[in-house]
Amino acid sequence: MDYKVTLIPGDGIGPEVTEAAKRVLEASGVTFHWDLAYAGSIAQNMFGTPLPDHLLGSIKKNKVALKGPVTTPVGSGFRSVNVALRRELDLYACLRPCKIYPRAPTPFKDVDIVVVRENTEDLYSSIEFEVGAPDTARLIELVGETKEKVLGEDTSFSLKVISRTASRRIVKFAFDYAQTNNRKKVTAVHKANIMKFSDGLFLAVAREVAKEYPDIEFDNVIVDTLCMQLVRAPQQFDVLVLPNLYGDIVSELCAGLVGGLGVAPGANLGDDMAIFEATHGSAPKYTGQNKVNPIAMMLSGVMMLHHLGETKNAARLEKAIADVIAEGKNVTYDLKPGAPRDQVVGTSQVADAVIEKLKVSS
Ligand code: NAD
Repeated sequence: MDYKVTLIPGDGIGPEVTEAAKRVLEASGVTFHWDLAYAGSIAQNMFGTPLPDHLLGSIKKNKVALKGPVTTPVGSGFRSVNVALRRELDLYACLRPCKIYPRAPTPFKDVDIVVVRENTEDLYSSIEFEVGAPDTARLIELVGETKEKVLGEDTSFSLKVISRTASRRIVKFAFDYAQTNNRKKVTAVHKANIMKFSDGLFLAVAREVAKEYPDIEFDNVIVDTLCMQLVRAPQQFDVLVLPNLYGDIVSELCAGLVGGLGVAPGANLGDDMAIFEATHGSAPKYTGQNKVNPIAMMLSGVMMLHHLGETKNAARLEKAIADVIAEGKNVTYDLKPGAPRDQVVGTSQVADAVIEKLKVSS
């Protein structure tokens, strides 16, 4: 079948890793018509906005996008295009599988965790009150009146927003995913001992939803305890469901367990649209060096093939990637820590090697 897919190269290392992923996807037995669209500083320079209408329009039309990372200015400048895209298109579920491929550089064995991160609210709601602003002064006054807490004028706020509706749909997503993918356990992650109303609501909703899935084991864990347990015995975890911020942090931790950001794929999913992108960012210091690992982006492409119903081609591509990792001859520096330069290859050579494996398997 033919598919029209929005292709967002991103910036930093984005164009290199998306090009590599595009090449292996085209070699996987599926025909793609790419609809090129720009985001972030590139779009800002070209169109005067980091999130142009044609980008949103393209994704709304094609329903599927493959996206490279986009840099977000720290502190000032435009707000995160990544967060805005997910919110604008209501891509409420961020799915980040973290599993060990043979010979990936990790001291662990048998880790196969799926992180399900809520994507639309929590501390990412962008409801912020800047220090010294008139609104902030009103909020300080309100807190003083209603909570009897005296806050200084030098205070700023970022609202942690947790709703019943968003919590319910992400926890249901996690259970549905577990059911469809033969997973045994869902663990809800929270800090409800301290944030009794926000995380407390998330946990209460998770407990309610769990009752609708009696065949799947459910438990819950406090986020700091989870981090300790993940680095001690990650094999005990199966599907994790988390509010936005914990999900972001824990998915990078889980990427570390399975060999690093170079092998950590992801997807942002809504009811009828999806954006596939790696967990990693734009790693600006490596821009244009043909150095970084494109495998996370390629594995995001494998997730895209599954989403499109191209199960066989997805399995073929995943096997070709796994074979390249296992062989260890054509991998980037991050998969061979400490190896001399002549024993690692660049981004495009990894794509060449995966394409060779695909040819052999066809
Ligand atoms: P990063 O993930 O870009 O890079 C951190 C480090 O991880 C890199 O220096 C590199 O050592 C390693 N790394 C990342 N990707 C790799 C790859 N493919 N192969 C090998 N090594 C890899 O994190 P950062 O430096 O904190 O963020 C850079 C920018 O990316 C920021 O502006 C951030 O906001 C943005 N970002 C974007 C997205 C997205 O577009 N979805 C996600 C995360 C961060």
